[in-house]
Amino acid sequence: MTAERLEHLDRVRQESMDFYGFGPRAMRRLKVCAHCGAMSPSCEWFCRQCGKRLPRDTLFQLYKSRHKSCPTCETVVAASYHYCPQCGTVLERLGEALAEGGEE
Ligand SMILES: [Zn+2]
Ligand SMILES: [Zn+2]
Repeated sequence: MTAERLEHLDRVRQESMDFYGFGPRAMRRLKVCAHCGAMSPSCEWFCRQCGKRLPRDTLFQLYKSRHKSCPTCETVVAASYHYCPQCGTVLERLGEALAEGGEE
């Protein structure tokens, strides 16, 4: 396989991971280093890449704090969703609560 082909595959993989948001299960097992951006398993406390202390929150918690998510099943959804696509929970009130809290 050529380097070009590998690069392409990597980009496709990145894009689909972004699109699917990794999925909550995978994200709960990961932390991202605030210093270098490297991923580490959530059970580790220091970054393998740069040796700095990792944040306590997993990638999922970080992601959830910045996005709208279902209070029932914790699926992260688009801000425009009114119902959870996984379990059907009404999300409108949650969206309003977030809006009241103010955006960054
Ligand atoms: Zn790091
Ligand atoms: Zn749900």
